[in-house]
Amino acid sequence: MSGGDNLDFEIRPNPAPVTAAERDALLVNPGFGRVFTDHMVTVRYADGKGWYDARVEARAPISIDPASAVLHYAQEIFEGLKAYKMADGGVAMFRPDANAARFAQSAQRMAMPQLSQAAFLQSLREIIRIDQDWIPQNDEGSLYLRPFAYASEVFLGVRPALEYLYLVIASPVGAYFSGGVKPVSVWVTPDFTRAAPGGTGAAKCGGNYAAGLSAQAEAIENGCDQVVYLDAVERKYVDELGGMNVFFVQADGNLLTPPLTGTILPGITRDSVIKLAERAGRRVEERPVSIDEWREGAASGQIREAFACGTAAVITPIGTVKSPEGSFTVADGGSGSVTMAIRKELVDIQRGRAADPFGWVH
Ligand code: PMP
Repeated sequence: MSGGDNLDFEIRPNPAPVTAAERDALLVNPGFGRVFTDHMVTVRYADGKGWYDARVEARAPISIDPASAVLHYAQEIFEGLKAYKMADGGVAMFRPDANAARFAQSAQRMAMPQLSQAAFLQSLREIIRIDQDWIPQNDEGSLYLRPFAYASEVFLGVRPALEYLYLVIASPVGAYFSGGVKPVSVWVTPDFTRAAPGGTGAAKCGGNYAAGLSAQAEAIENGCDQVVYLDAVERKYVDELGGMNVFFVQADGNLLTPPLTGTILPGITRDSVIKLAERAGRRVEERPVSIDEWREGAASGQIREAFACGTAAVITPIGTVKSPEGSFTVADGGSGSVTMAIRKELVDIQRGRAADPFGWVH
C-alpha cells in the first residue's frame, strides 16, 4: 500500500495572506503551536486510485463528515520536524528522510496507505517554499512542520478505511527555553503505562497521546513538567517521557538509553545523539534501565546526568525525579556538562554553524 511517487502539486496561493506587518508581529513571540502560516498541503487517497489531488492552498478549516472513520476509531498518524534559517541565510530541514521513514512505519502499523518518501519530502519543500517568510529569522526560532494523515472515509464499520486525507500545516515557534536551558522535573507515574508489547508504542499515532493526557495531568498535579513511563509488563524499566526519549550519562561519560523494542517511539533526536556520541568516542549502551538503577545510580554517582531528547526541545536536562515513593535529584539537579556539550553539538549542526558529518541537513 505505498505510492504517490510523483505527485503533481497544484499551487493555489492564498488570495488573502496576512500582511507582512501582521506576520512580523506574530513572529515576535509565537510560543508553540498557536500561530500558523498562510498555506497548507492536502493530498487525497482512495482505495484503487492511490494518492491524488495534491494541492498547496490557503490554510482553512476542513469539513469533516460526522461519520468519518477517524472520529470514531482514531486511525490517524503524524510527524513533527523543523525548518530553520541557517547561518548562511538558507533554509534547511533536519533529517526529513528519517521522518518520512517513520511516517511510513506508523502508517503500516495503523493499517493506513503509505506515502512515498519522495512525495512526503516534496510536500514539505512545497510548504516551506510558499511560506518561507514565516520562518523566524532569529537564532532560536524555527518553523515547525506537522505532516499528518487520517481516515476520512464515511463509514462506521471497524476495518481499515478506504479513503484518507494527508495534510501538512506549519507553525512558527520560538525558543523552547527563553532565558537558557532549564532542567525539567519528571513524574514516574504509578498508575498509567504508555505502550504494551505488540501495541502502538513505536508508532506516532494520535491515540498514544490521547491515552497519555491523564498521566501528564498527574505529573502536573505533582508539580512536575513531564511524565516518565515505565514498561507495561514489569512496571520496572524506564521506557520514555510523554514526548521525549531518555538518556543517562554514566560516571565514565558513556551513555545508556532504553532499547527500541517496539514500546517506545524511535526518536530521530535519539538516533542523532547516539551517532554523535559514538563519533566523539563515547560508548552508547542500548539496554533496559530500571527506575531502581536510576535512583541508586544517581545516589552513588554511577549515573551522573540524565536528559530527555526530542524535536521540540532538542535536549533537556532532567533535574528532579518524583514518584509516590519519594523524589531524588540527578547530581545537583542542574544541567550536566556532557548533556550540554551534546546539545550544543547537535544544535550547531542543525543551524549550519558546524560541519554536518552525517549529511543530516537538507
Ligand atoms: N517519544 C515520544 C513519545 C515523542 O512524541 C517524541 C516526539 N516526536 C519523541 C520521543 C522524540 O522523537 P523525535 O526526536 O523524533 O522528535
